[in-house]
Amino acid sequence: MNPPESASSPVRPAALQGLFRGELEELVAGAGEKRFRAAQLFGWMHARHVACEGDAMPNVPKALVASLAAAGWTATPLALAAESPAAEGGTRKLLFRLVDGESVETVLLPGAEGKCTVCVSTQAGCRMGCAFCATGKSGFARSLSAGEIVSQVLAAAKVLGGRIDHVVLMGMGEPFDNYDASLRAVRLMNCPEGLGIGARKITISTCGIVPGIERLAGEGMQVELAVSLHAATPEKRATLMPVERRWGMDGLLAACEAYTAKTKRLVTFEYTLVAGLNDTAEDADTLAKKLSFPCKVNLIPLSPVEGFAGERPDDAACEKFLARLVRRGMKATLRRSRGRALDAACGQLRRRLRAARPAAAGSEK
Ligand code: SAH
Ligand code: SF4
Repeated sequence: MNPPESASSPVRPAALQGLFRGELEELVAGAGEKRFRAAQLFGWMHARHVACEGDAMPNVPKALVASLAAAGWTATPLALAAESPAAEGGTRKLLFRLVDGESVETVLLPGAEGKCTVCVSTQAGCRMGCAFCATGKSGFARSLSAGEIVSQVLAAAKVLGGRIDHVVLMGMGEPFDNYDASLRAVRLMNCPEGLGIGARKITISTCGIVPGIERLAGEGMQVELAVSLHAATPEKRATLMPVERRWGMDGLLAACEAYTAKTKRLVTFEYTLVAGLNDTAEDADTLAKKLSFPCKVNLIPLSPVEGFAGERPDDAACEKFLARLVRRGMKATLRRSRGRALDAACGQLRRRLRAARPAAAGSEK
């Protein structure tokens, strides 16, 4: 009853949610149970959203659950540790405790007509160290397993009564620093007998890890790719994002252009606006010149973060930057105020909780 290699996690017990139905069948058969139990288990976890502490799966024999537990598996890899009150627009942030005491944030973003987007974390912390990011500042603990990633969506589906329309891998962590687990989680979310979320409704956001972009281009998946750019020149980008020194902007943009040529899907560039730092008319002009291939730009006003001196530009400056890009023929959008009141930048709830309750933070660094 060994776990499939690709679903394995250094942490035990490992999440059963990280297994596809066929893999679950092998596991169940190895435990001496009938294979149809796997469909029951998969259904409870992925369609009926059993993902939190205290959940039960009535028609699954207790002996099977006990024997899976003895082999190092759990159906409850997440426990809700904290929840922020709903902010403007209904946005809510959940903090989940993982089995080893680490914690991650998941954000629920209700949209129009009852639609809902869930923003999930792929790592507890992040090793990319972006200057303006609360997660980057809180250090790195470990990567999440596929089961821990997909369980955040399952837990959100449970909280929301099943209405999940979009998933964005834009929470804590860098998906391409945890490529295999992130992609496995996306494929699990895709399963028609589970959540059934279409690939086009799933967005992966990367800080620009070029080999990850190249790999994704070869996956034959219809997922949306977002790339965090945040500056129009390599020099300025390097002051905000250490990753620029490893995979420079020119190579990054070439990889994005090749991705679009191969997949016929447009890349969205995320650009966090910081007052006086990257929001000038010259920045907009240089950005429009650099992004000379078909793509989209999503402008995000900075959410102020402790330990980063930058400030959010005022609304007029943001609108001006947007208009200048649009005038130059760019497909660009501006994220207006939603979530600002909620510490919208991921990593802040976890950081605050750790500061307030160090004893409860388990093995977090
Ligand atoms: N690691 C991935 C995905 C997680 S970060 C990435 O960097 O793309 C998700 C997005 O939030 C990124 O575009 C990131 O730059 C942005 N972000 C982080 N901190 C922010 C802040 N304080 N204000 C606004 N956007 C922020
Ligand atoms: Fe990591 Fe993304 Fe934050 Fe950079 S912005 S530190 S890559 S989570």
